[in-house]
Amino acid sequence: MSEQPSGTATPSRLLVLSGPSGVGKSTVVRQLRAHHPDIWLSVSATTRFPRPGEIDGVHYHFVGAEKFDQLVADGGLLEWAEFAGHRYGTPRAPVEERLSAGVPVLLEIELQGARQIRASMPEATLVFLAPPSWDELVRRLTGRGTEDAELIAQRLATAREELAAEKEFDLTLVNTSVQEVVDRLLALWQVGDPRPN
Ligand code: ADP
Ligand code: 5GP
Repeated sequence: MSEQPSGTATPSRLLVLSGPSGVGKSTVVRQLRAHHPDIWLSVSATTRFPRPGEIDGVHYHFVGAEKFDQLVADGGLLEWAEFAGHRYGTPRAPVEERLSAGVPVLLEIELQGARQIRASMPEATLVFLAPPSWDELVRRLTGRGTEDAELIAQRLATAREELAAEKEFDLTLVNTSVQEVVDRLLALWQVGDPRPN
């Protein structure tokens, strides 16, 4: 992974949101973007299949294994990781372009990817989204209904490891209220809060 070229980006505009599967990352990001389309959300490449309603190029770039290999070989990914049997990665160029233009950038990625960003872009802010409790995490992941029992068990096993890594992050936000989490994230970018002080 190449180093961040000096003077071409403002890495502090880069915020990484991580946390166990089912904690509510997508929900938080959806709500954030609904009111703040000015914050740019990176669209990852993945080898997993689309869920119902997911659109190629919008939710992910859904690619085959060969294409993903090519992206890795070409240095086209800022970070990538294997998660629950599939690969996920952040296309490098669009992120670097936005940061160079001073646009606030959000990456919603898992733990191994967050660690790679920590190493390559140390000024990024790493936020850990935590569930109010383990039982609530299980409820959310199960209630979402997008994975079968085996996949849920696999994601919960990974979730235990991810929860143990919380201390590696710059800060933790507990996802009790989606709106509160969104407000805290906006404050980190210092994006204007429309409410009076
Ligand atoms: P992730 O992207 O982290 O895997 P999702 O955003 O898909 O998680 O959320 C998993 C489930 O939890 C969804 O059914 C979502 O509606 C629900 N959820 C998210 N945030 C909250 C919250 N603060 N309170 C209650 N349920 C929530
Ligand atoms: P899902 O299959 O539920 O969409 O995503 C599974 C996990 O992959 C989530 O924790 C999500 O944050 C993570 N993820 C999505 N895109 C990327 C990426 O580009 N890089 C990494 N490292 N993780 C990603």
